[in-house]
This record gives sequence, structure tokens and C-alpha cells, in this order.
Amino acid sequence: MQQIDLSPIIEPLLAWYEQNHRPLPWRDSPTPYHVWLSEIMLQQTRIEAVIPYYERFLSACPTVEALACVDDEQLMKLWEGLGYYSRARNLKKAAQRIMEQHKGELPASYEALLALPGIGPYTAGAISSIAFGLPEPAVDGNVLRVVTRLTADESDIMKDTTKRRVTASLRAMYPQAMNKAANLTQALMELGEQVCIPNGGPHCESCPLGATCMARARNLTDRIPVRTPKKERAIQPRTIFLLMHGDKVALRKRGDKGLLSGLWEFIGREGWCELPEAQAWLKEQGAHSSRLIAAPDATHIFTHIEWRMKGYFVLCDDAPSELLGQTLVWVTRKELHDMYALPTAFRAYVRALDDFSPREA
Ligand code: SF4
Repeated sequence: MQQIDLSPIIEPLLAWYEQNHRPLPWRDSPTPYHVWLSEIMLQQTRIEAVIPYYERFLSACPTVEALACVDDEQLMKLWEGLGYYSRARNLKKAAQRIMEQHKGELPASYEALLALPGIGPYTAGAISSIAFGLPEPAVDGNVLRVVTRLTADESDIMKDTTKRRVTASLRAMYPQAMNKAANLTQALMELGEQVCIPNGGPHCESCPLGATCMARARNLTDRIPVRTPKKERAIQPRTIFLLMHGDKVALRKRGDKGLLSGLWEFIGREGWCELPEAQAWLKEQGAHSSRLIAAPDATHIFTHIEWRMKGYFVLCDDAPSELLGQTLVWVTRKELHDMYALPTAFRAYVRALDDFSPREA
């Protein structure tokens, strides 16, 4: 399918955006750093959930320089709950690179932005246009949905060829005027989030592009966008052991590679253990427990896998410093909340610990 001239959408879309955009903290002062941080946080996370994280992060790291120097543990704590922690690590790496190679300022060039860790075509396009006013589109799932509907394009939006074609069509019509490029990027995003929505049907009756939309004219809005079905997630059963000694609980650090790398976690193992097996396994590992008490089951969904977890409170007679060849740290519940970043996957067990009293059990 060929590129389609999208220029007729510019003026109605910009006029609509002027009247309808939501006030968001990063829109108040769209510096390159603010746009970058917000766009990275918004990947995979809803706007409402991002706002408090964004504000807290900026108080702790108000500049690229502060981000480049932030302590790793503090960085993980600031990101705790947002998931996809490699995003935070890449932010810091990119900030260090910006300090070394760009005198502390994000570069005003799409290609130079793309060369920074964690910045892909979408984020480079967003920073280029919103912060620097360059004629570069930012094409994510929202924008793909809007454009394929506008053009009644039934190609699979999961394919790179579709994404490249949509990007090329948008780039060809992007205005050179700084303010227009910035607003057009945000207008396309806003339309995809507010009007041309994915589930429950788009609000075509209130869409500023309704008169030119080919999917609407051909009654195809429920068929477009077309996407290949996602692969089913693999289910992984796990058992979580909340090792407790006095008022402390044991944590260990995950390895440097793979899922949730470098983050703190409760002791756990693959597979579901019933109580006798759990007791025997812990003893084998050198954790002597006076009692095991069932904790609630929990589920956590990652992109490609799903953890189904069974848990135990383990009241230990002593506090071993090692288990399974790994160092344990013993922390109070307050330290657990204030100092250690645990992935959201364990949130149900942090809550279970808050509600648990060994004396009442
Ligand atoms: S008219 Fe409907 S389908 Fe077309 S862009 Fe607007 S909201 Fe989306």
C-alpha cells in the first residue's frame, strides 16, 4: 500500500487539540529532559499512574546531571511499581552519556537522540518534535491506530513495514513550524487516547477528523487496526518464602541478567510446593524454621509470562546470612518500604507481610 497524503488532517487536528488537550505536568514546561522522562515513564503505563511517579522523580533528579549521579538503589526505589526496570537503568546510562558527550543537554537531533541508551524511534520522535519542534513524528500504538483508521489501512500494525509506512506518511506532512510540530505530535497522541480509542469503539461522532476518515466512511472502525494475535503467555508456577526472624524479613538480590535483573526479591523457587515439601526444601537449604504458615496466593502478569505464586510465612529460628549460595539481607518492614525496591510482582507479599502478626498466627 502506498503512502497517503495526510496533510488535510493538520489544521482540524491542531484546532481540536488547542481546545481539548488535558493539562499534564510535563506539558507545563516541555523541556527536553521533561519530555524524555515522561515519555519513558508512559511506555507501558497509564497517564494517571505516571503523574505521581513523574513528580517524585523530578524532585529527586531535577536535572540530567542529577540523574547521571543518582545512586542505583535510589533509582530503583524511585521506579518501584512502574515495572520494566531496564527503562530506569537506561535513563541513567543515557544521562551519563549526555553529560560526557553533549555537555549535559539532550541533543536537538533525531539521530543523536536515537543513539542514546533506551531511546527508540518513538521516543526520539517525541523529544524531537515536542521539545525541539523538529518535523519528526512519534509513532506508537495510539498513532498507528488513528492513522490506519483514517486511511482504512488493513495491514497488520504489528509489522515493521506498516509502522515504517505510517511513519513515512506522517513525516512527509509534518509542518516545519516549531509550535505546529510539537502540537501535532501531542494532538495525534491525545486523539488516540481520548477519541479514537481501542476498546469499546471510537467516538467518531465527536472526532475532528470524522469527515475525512475512511474507516468511518466504510464502516470498518471495528476491524481496524488489524493486529496479529499475541502469543499466549507461559504460566510459571512459583513458591515464595517470606523468611522472618524477629521483626525482620529476608531479601536477596536477583542476578544481573534476565527478568527483574538486579532487583531485590523474597526467597522463591520454581514450582508449587505443598507444606511438607516446602519444609523439607527449606531445611535442605539450611533455613531452620519453627513454623510455616500459608500466605495468600498471588498472580503477576509480565508481557510474555505469568507467575502464579503460592506463598509461606516462614518463622525462622535463626537468621542465616546465606541461602542457595546467595547472600541474604535481613530488613525490618520499615526498611523494606523505605529503602528496598521490590518489583510489583511481589506487591501482594509486601502487603501480606504488613498484615501479618506472628503472635496472632
Ligand atoms: S472518525 Fe472515528 S475512526 Fe476515524 S479517526 Fe476519528 S475516531 Fe478514529
